[in-house]
Parts: sequence; C-alpha cells; structure tokens
Amino acid sequence: MKNLVILGGGYGGMKILSELLPNDLPEDVRITLVDRVPYHCLKTEYYALAAGTVSDKELRVSFPEHPQLEIKYGEVIGIEKDNKKVLLKDSEPISYDDLVIGLGCEDKYHGVPGADQYTYSIQSIEKSRKTYSVLNNLGPGSVVGIVGAGLSGVELASELSESRGDLKIKLFDRGKHILPAFPDRLSKYVENWFHKNNVEIINNSNITKVEENLLYNHDKPIPCDVIVWTAGIQANKVVRELGEEMDRSGRLIITPRHHLPNDEHVFILGDCASLPHAPSAQLAEGQAEQIVEVLKKRWNGEEPPVQFPTIKLKGVLGSLGKKHGFGMMADRAITGRVARLLKSGVLWLYKYHNG
Ligand SMILES: Cc1cc2nc3c(=O)[nH]c(=O)nc-3n(C[C@H](O)[C@H](O)[C@H](O)COP(=O)(O)OP(=O)(O)OC[C@H]3O[C@@H](n4cnc5c(N)ncnc54)[C@H](O)[C@@H]3O)c2cc1C
Repeated sequence: MKNLVILGGGYGGMKILSELLPNDLPEDVRITLVDRVPYHCLKTEYYALAAGTVSDKELRVSFPEHPQLEIKYGEVIGIEKDNKKVLLKDSEPISYDDLVIGLGCEDKYHGVPGADQYTYSIQSIEKSRKTYSVLNNLGPGSVVGIVGAGLSGVELASELSESRGDLKIKLFDRGKHILPAFPDRLSKYVENWFHKNNVEIINNSNITKVEENLLYNHDKPIPCDVIVWTAGIQANKVVRELGEEMDRSGRLIITPRHHLPNDEHVFILGDCASLPHAPSAQLAEGQAEQIVEVLKKRWNGEEPPVQFPTIKLKGVLGSLGKKHGFGMMADRAITGRVARLLKSGVLWLYKYHNG
C-alpha cells in the first residue's frame, strides 16, 4: 500500500479528501490525515467565535470516514524529507510516499516588539477561543484595540460592535483607507458603517510597540483593555523551518504542479504555498483539485499536466455584523443585505456539502 499523508484538515486538506473519497482512491493507496484538532474547523468564521456571536460547535465539521482513511490526531513538529517521515509531538513518526502540507498560517508581527506577547489572535481555533474569553469577560466601557483593517480585522470589529455595543472599539490601520485590497467605494461604505456603529477607525497608524494593555501608535501609548492582532499572516512555522525557498511571508515556492521544486512527492497547499493570489479558502480548494489531478495521473502511470489553468476565484465576501456585508463578485462591488445573504449562503452550502 502507498501512503498519502495529508498534514492539516483545513479547507485544502478537506477538499483533497472530498475529491478522492469515496470512489476515486485506488485500492493500493491509503490516506493518513494528521491534524491537531479532531474535526475540520471553519476558520473563515473565527471572527464570530471571538465576538461571541456563534458557538464553538457551529464551526466544527466532522472529518469523513472511509476504510482507506486513517485520522491521526496530533501536533506536527517537523518533516524529514530525506527519510520521507513526518515528526509528531509525543507520537511515532509517520512514513509517507506522497505528502501534502496544508498546515495553514499564523500571525505575522512584522518585528513589532511585544506584539506576539501582548496581543490576542484569531488565526487558530485555540487562540480564537482565548480571544472570545477575554473579549466577552470585559466590563462595560472597556477599550478593545484591533490592529489591522483587512478582511478579518473588519469582520471582527463589526461583529464585536454588534455583540458588545457597550465596548469602545478602536480599529488601527496603516492605510489612508481601510480594506486596501478593495475598491475605494467599498472601503468608504465600510468606513461609513463603522462611523454609524461607533467603531473608531485610526487611519495612517503605525504600531511601533505593544506592552501589557498599551498599544503604541507612532510611539504614542494608547491604553487598551484587550488588543487583537489582525495585521498580517505568514506560513505555519513547520513550513518556514523546512529550509526550502520561500517568499516574504514564509510561503514555499512551488512548481506549476504544486510540489517542491526539488521533491515531486511533497506538495504544498493553501496558506503554506506561494501563489499569485492572496491566500484564501477558495484558493486552497482550487489548488487541492489540481493536486488531486497530479496524484491520480501518477497513480495511473500517466504523466500529469505540465501546466494547469489559473485557479478561478469567485470573489470575496465580508460581513458587517449579521445584517450587512460587502464584497466583490465577478469584478462587481456589492454592499448591504444582499452581500450578507450571499455570504451566509456560501457558508450554508459549504456546511451542507461537507457536514
Ligand atoms: C477571520 C477570517 C476570515 C476569513 N474569511 C475568508 C473568506 O471569507 N473567504 C476565504 O476564501 N478565506 C477567508 N479567510 C482565509 C482562510 O480561512 C484561509 O485562507 C484558509 O483557511 C486556508 O486554508 P488551508 O487549508 O491552507 O489552512 P487551514 O484552513 O488554516 O487549515 C490548517 C489546518 O492545519 C492544522 N494544523 C496547523 N498546524 C498544525 C500542526 N503543527 N500540527 C497539526 N495540525 C496543524 C489546523 O488545525 C487546521 O486544521 C479568512 C481567515 C480568517 C482568519
């Protein structure tokens, strides 16, 4: 039996499983899925978990069951490419014939002193739970500083303002306008929503240091009861420490067939891979489909395609609390209730197909 080992049951890892199971896995191949969480987590909703508007259980999707699939619960601590082994904390190494690394990403602190120590995070389920706990135990009138107004910072700030109207929320962003990756019209719409909903936006900010309950903007201290960091991501530490060529965010350089340039048996997936688009769940899924095509061709003794078509992304949708949203669909900006309904619909469909 050949062993395909998948590290990480996130959006990319789950898509590989759903493409191969139940009927497309050759009889002589088994799959070992390794994750430190015993179910698939809906990371795109961590902002709502942290804000206290959805329960933990709503963000869990069971891993599939299949006679050729083994689920291994554990923490990946390293990979020995030369021996084709994955190292786990407190457990025996796992041997692979083919390896897919889809371990997601972590916060990137851009060298800001104290940021890793004194800020909370929504980049993993464990960290989002801690963030939920501190945010929801705050007394009335407490100040929450959110650093970074990209998609996840905006979603957290808006959800929290609806969940805890008694808090003072300050959203710090480097740019002249928030949501720099979106057209101006959308940024302005979202800024107006924040003005109406008492979220203070601090544009052109430069966080120079973080101390306990103190955020330094351009070296000026601003007292905050809780600080949440949403100002950048980088590939998982295990990936960054592999010693392979990577981009500025620690994502590994890959070939058009999605494997390492020096090892055709090690595929890099989703937020761990350096790709021409910004990392997203959609991108991880699109890439997973192409990896499956490479694997299936090889298992069949055929040559995989040398080049794949560019992965098509359907668009981006963001929420502003439970009733409003914004996004880009087919290059068109959409705002308001329709955008929010579409976002809920996408989530419902995802749960329906995977749950
Ligand atoms: C608040 C927020 C909102 C977002 N909204 C959107 C959106 O609307 N649309 C969109 O497309 N994208 C969105 N994203 C981005 C999206 O969530 C990621 O791009 C996507 O999850 C990447 O998928 P992945 O398979 O690469 O990794 P992940 O889905 O992060 O999965 C990684 C898996 O690896 C496991 N893991 C990690 N380290 C280890 C280890 N050492 N040992 C064992 N297991 C480990 C984790 O438990 C996890 O199951 C959002 C992200 C956030 C934080």
